Amino acid sequence: MLLKGSCHCGSVKFQAESHYPYPFNLCYCSICRKTAGGGGFAINISADASTLKIEGKENTGCYHAVTNGQESPGERNFCKHCASALWVYDPRWPEFVYLFASAIDSELPVPPERSHIMLGSKANWVEVESKPNDKCFSEYPQESIAQWHERLKLSK
Ligand SMILES: [Zn+2]
Ligand SMILES: [Zn+2]
Repeated sequence: MLLKGSCHCGSVKFQAESHYPYPFNLCYCSICRKTAGGGGFAINISADASTLKIEGKENTGCYHAVTNGQESPGERNFCKHCASALWVYDPRWPEFVYLFASAIDSELPVPPERSHIMLGSKANWVEVESKPNDKCFSEYPQESIAQWHERLKLSK
């Protein structure tokens, strides 16, 4: 499924093909929370990095988070003008690009269950709104975004 997205001011537009477009993966880590997740989490969607097309790339900035004194190779891309968080690319997993659901303009499918991940880093004021089928993880789960879609037979 082709996912199209943009920043709030319109300086950056992007698109990528995704076989795994369900926005089920809610990350409560401090980086997602501070850079993208006003509700306490951000939602990452996995897309095919080789299909990523960017309009207005010169308007993007890139943030490498530092945790415990170590800089992450992960590239958190945002709009330099309006600060919208756009996508994460990590050269350790070069086949994927992780689009923030908040920046997607295409209509996304509603997930039948959700994963609440990195709850060990959750802010204390955030109450996890977990539905009966949801799964909760204190760190990253073993199951990948692709495996989640395959288990639920939702790959596109
Ligand atoms: Zn912008
Ligand atoms: Zn995160």
